[in-house]
Amino acid sequence: MRRALAPLIWVQIGVGLLGFAGLVYVGVARGRPELFAVAGIALAGWIFVNLRRPLRVWRALKRPFPETYRAILERRVVFYGLLDATERARFEKNVQRFLAEYRIQGVAGVELDDTLRVLTAAGAAMLVHGRPEWDYPAVRDVLIYPDRFDDSYQVGKQGNVLGMVHGQGPILLSAKALRRGFSKESDGMNVALHEMAHVIDMADGLADGVPDDLGTNAIAPWLEQMRPEMQRVKKHRSMLRDYAGTNSAELFAVATEAFFERPRRMRDKEPELYAALEQLYGLDPARLCEDAATRVL
Ligand SMILES: [Zn+2]
Repeated sequence: MRRALAPLIWVQIGVGLLGFAGLVYVGVARGRPELFAVAGIALAGWIFVNLRRPLRVWRALKRPFPETYRAILERRVVFYGLLDATERARFEKNVQRFLAEYRIQGVAGVELDDTLRVLTAAGAAMLVHGRPEWDYPAVRDVLIYPDRFDDSYQVGKQGNVLGMVHGQGPILLSAKALRRGFSKESDGMNVALHEMAHVIDMADGLADGVPDDLGTNAIAPWLEQMRPEMQRVKKHRSMLRDYAGTNSAELFAVATEAFFERPRRMRDKEPELYAALEQLYGLDPARLCEDAATRVL
């Protein structure tokens, strides 16, 4: 969960060079030149296996952020519009990083376009924005379906699934729900945020609504809120939609959606829940809304 790209590269290079130097040393000391060839092949193989992913991310982050992507963020991602110039630049880097690491594919006839790619990445970037040290735990494929689907992944009116995350497998999203999630209705529904919250929750191997990998301090207030919030949901006294009552994993995912989509309402109606998520995500989106409103005036 920790992000440490640059140090990671240097540690990996160091380990590789040590191994390479060791083989060369043995080759010289024992008078066995064929070990040089072995060292060369081993080094090349090691570089390919270990550095391919971090170097791809590193290269992606050095590229300027595409104007077409920026236009999509400006037009469709309310959260991005709340940020000042410095924070926008940081958000864009997280979008680039996600797009470099995750392979996004359209399935069942979906023509993948920049909007679908950028919106998927924007959902991921929102959840890590307040925690620069976080990184998404596992690299997964993202499969974009045209619309809602059923348990056997058939798209159509009988389907009621807008998104899904498999244990260690791909993230599935409905293109229609993805676009609608970022429309400006702030209805508390955003499938990208919902499924990415599941990914964060499942980083410790359990889909239990408790993202243990984030550390005790970050999750302690959330742990306190889970049970009373679940009771409020069951009694229809919560601002979260009923689906949160399915189980604790859905409680976390639905609460995450509401926290980012309707922060001021959550802060007013359920301040303790808001404070818990604020601590967990390292972010005060209600305040961001107010600051952004002042900037415009
Ligand atoms: Zn869910």
